[in-house]
Amino acid sequence: MHMNDKDRCGEMKPFIYDLNLDDLQEWAKENGEPAFRAGQIFDWLYVKRVNNFQEMTNLSKELRAKLEDQFEFVTLKEITKLESKDGTVKFLFGLHDDHAIETVIMKHNYGNSICVTTQVGCRIGCTFCASTLGGLKRNLTAGEIVAQVVQAQKILDEKGERVSSIVIMGSGEPFENYEATMKFLRIMIHEKGLNIGQRHITVSTSGIVPNIYKFANEDTQINLAISIHAPNDMLRSKLMPVNRRYPFEDVMEALRYYLAKTGRRITFEYALIGGVNDQPEHAAELASVLKDMLCHVNLIPVNHVPERKYVRTSRNDIFKFQRVLAENGVNVTIRREQGHDIAAACGQLRAKHMELR
Ligand code: SF4
Repeated sequence: MHMNDKDRCGEMKPFIYDLNLDDLQEWAKENGEPAFRAGQIFDWLYVKRVNNFQEMTNLSKELRAKLEDQFEFVTLKEITKLESKDGTVKFLFGLHDDHAIETVIMKHNYGNSICVTTQVGCRIGCTFCASTLGGLKRNLTAGEIVAQVVQAQKILDEKGERVSSIVIMGSGEPFENYEATMKFLRIMIHEKGLNIGQRHITVSTSGIVPNIYKFANEDTQINLAISIHAPNDMLRSKLMPVNRRYPFEDVMEALRYYLAKTGRRITFEYALIGGVNDQPEHAAELASVLKDMLCHVNLIPVNHVPERKYVRTSRNDIFKFQRVLAENGVNVTIRREQGHDIAAACGQLRAKHMELR
């Protein structure tokens, strides 16, 4: 049974959400229970979405006691909840060890999308991001990532709605917490559980090259997004120190491998920063790099980052940038801003919370 015990503090019991169906079956076997019990537990967790073992009423009292004795539910304590006029709801959740993470529910016309966090903080150091300011505190376990979606689904249950898509774009670098992220994903797409469509899930990386190859070789249809943010090696290194570890051209080569292997379109995330990477020549250079790739560019005008003196790109420059890409045959959209009125940019809420402590 694979659990991220090394990421856990103290002598805590494992989280029940850390177990996938195979793990539960193994556990049932080890405990002299028939295999179908695992299916029943999985159903209580992800279809009926109970809050504790006592609610699993088709299990014997002894079995419930045994589960309770060996596992914990993940408790995400709501520290802050901010609701935007556009329907975006952002949560700051407290974990068992006093760390705090952000999870966002975004309302689209096609359904509800959840943005999840994979690490407490982040060590990647992107210069426009608040999540990285205090460095990496620890990885989340698969169960702690799962719990964010289950909690969001419980909130949506009250309105008769469901989680229709997931983006792994919250704080942290999912490919630096690869095993937990993959385990989380496999729990999410399981047809006997939440059954989220694979094509409705996107995992976003800053370009951890070895794990792009690994991901390309996984048997899934989950989408991949790359935070590219610059059209060349030099500028990218300035904005994203991770580029010194995994240079621009190595990332591109890994992506070409991914494309050849999966045939799935890649999304490039490009944060526009006023006067830094948002000029027409940057767009032209980016277009020449991407010209033969099956891809889509998502432009994200960054919010003002006081710590970095970054400013927003003007509306005019945003459209100019988009036009240059489009005229050069690159598929491009500007990300619809959500939760602009509630500090929804990644890490801002947690940063504020840390300042207040
Ligand atoms: S943008 Fe993502 S990868 Fe970069 S520092 Fe922020 S959380 Fe980490």
